[in-house]
Amino acid sequence: MFDASLTELAAALAAKRISSVELTRLFLDRIARLDGSLNAFITVDPERSLAQARAADRRLGAGEGGPLTGIPVAHKDLFLTEGWPSTCGSRMLANFVAPYDAHVIERFNAAGAVILGKTNMDEFAMGSSNESSWFGAARNPWNPECVPGGSSGGSATAVAARMAPAATGTDTGGSIRQPAALTGICGLKPTYGVVSRHGMVAFASSLDQGGPLARSAEELAALMNVMAGFDARDSTSLERPAEDYARELARPVAGLRIGVPREYFAEGLAPEVAAAVQAAIDALQKLGATTSDVDLPNTGLSVPAYYVIAPAEASSNLSRYDGVRYGFRAPEYDDLMDMYCRSRAAGFGAEVKRRILVGTYVLSHGYYDAYYLKAQKIRRLIANDFAEAFKRCDVIVGPTTPGVAFRLGEKTADPVQMYLDDIYTVAVNLAGLPALSIPCGFGRGGDAGPASDLSRGGLLPIGLQLIGDYFAEARLLGVAHQYQRGTDWHRRAPPIGH
Ligand code: GLN
Repeated sequence: MFDASLTELAAALAAKRISSVELTRLFLDRIARLDGSLNAFITVDPERSLAQARAADRRLGAGEGGPLTGIPVAHKDLFLTEGWPSTCGSRMLANFVAPYDAHVIERFNAAGAVILGKTNMDEFAMGSSNESSWFGAARNPWNPECVPGGSSGGSATAVAARMAPAATGTDTGGSIRQPAALTGICGLKPTYGVVSRHGMVAFASSLDQGGPLARSAEELAALMNVMAGFDARDSTSLERPAEDYARELARPVAGLRIGVPREYFAEGLAPEVAAAVQAAIDALQKLGATTSDVDLPNTGLSVPAYYVIAPAEASSNLSRYDGVRYGFRAPEYDDLMDMYCRSRAAGFGAEVKRRILVGTYVLSHGYYDAYYLKAQKIRRLIANDFAEAFKRCDVIVGPTTPGVAFRLGEKTADPVQMYLDDIYTVAVNLAGLPALSIPCGFGRGGDAGPASDLSRGGLLPIGLQLIGDYFAEARLLGVAHQYQRGTDWHRRAPPIGH
């Protein structure tokens, strides 16, 4: 059951081979068994989940089920979920119970999906390792000494460890794709504006985008069919006709023009990752795709530009946490100003404070032109690079991350080292493009060569990134699905919980 796909689960539910209550219990039991060591969940509330499962069973019994009715899905803890704690991985919101549902949660509820729990994440989604969570780091099920990536690390761990069939995440600079890559699962960051941000705790509003994590491209498509859609409460939500994200799954790869950016295979990429990504490109060529080199000349500026723009927006968004209206308030203080200061000093962790300081600095009088405005100009250049590239190719293929999962603590002392890990993901957010990550091999870390034999042990997953032009989600999912029809990387399960 834990390896069953969403389609298989839906079939089992429809045929009454299992009820939603039974299915939900199975996953809750597995969480109880494994999550003590993996820490993927911040909140599980079996009573609430089972109440939803009972309602789903009634719907299924009346023959009113859809593709996700009765299926448990885990949600990143920055999606507001009515009646559930919605902590965003922060002490600031540790006791915050959401008074309403995010648009994404509304959509899953309407589809009859069961909320399985709220997943661990970097504090306010700031991080690439899940180590900045107030609730402690989530751990990589392939090796619990390693990080699962971030910031949607709990969602990725939950899906990779088969504690949840699917999960939601958000991606501001890679936080769906990077943890998907490091835990050996699939994740899609949609075109900016396709998934509503209403009820998603804001980090950097011009970059934040929700999306799905699952074990196959086919399942990502099914999840997107529920998550995506216009929402008037998000002013950047795009009003477009509804689309079926599964419509290109069967489309052959033959004739696909793949662009391979030189800049993505330069210094800093682990040889084992380069080899696995190259092997995946070869496999796509065997399916009839053609490849050509493309240039993304401003790639090297994407991390510096992102780490000006994202903190600038974060510093503004996080000004709402003042200890007055909701969230953490310091227990003792002298006057109002002291209450603000003490509440924010104790409520936010080190990485969040670093971002607020950087963001406030780059927006301040005298530095705005030198940093913020310059970063916005670079953002335009980066978007232009992609526009040029997409004149000559349909998808851009490269690595998701420079290496496999690193050890807990390895990069916490050096934030710049941590930020550089985002080199292949942040440009996509700056340009607002869709991209996904799917597993394409395994590596050992360090400078080891390619490894494909799981029995050698100590192996960690490698992610392949596919980047598309605006609204090319269905095409990306189709290419990924065709690749997955001929490969089994996405079926490999981490060596735990058997
Ligand atoms: N690692 C990036 C950061 O720390 C991206 C995070 C994200 O996508 N939420 O900002």
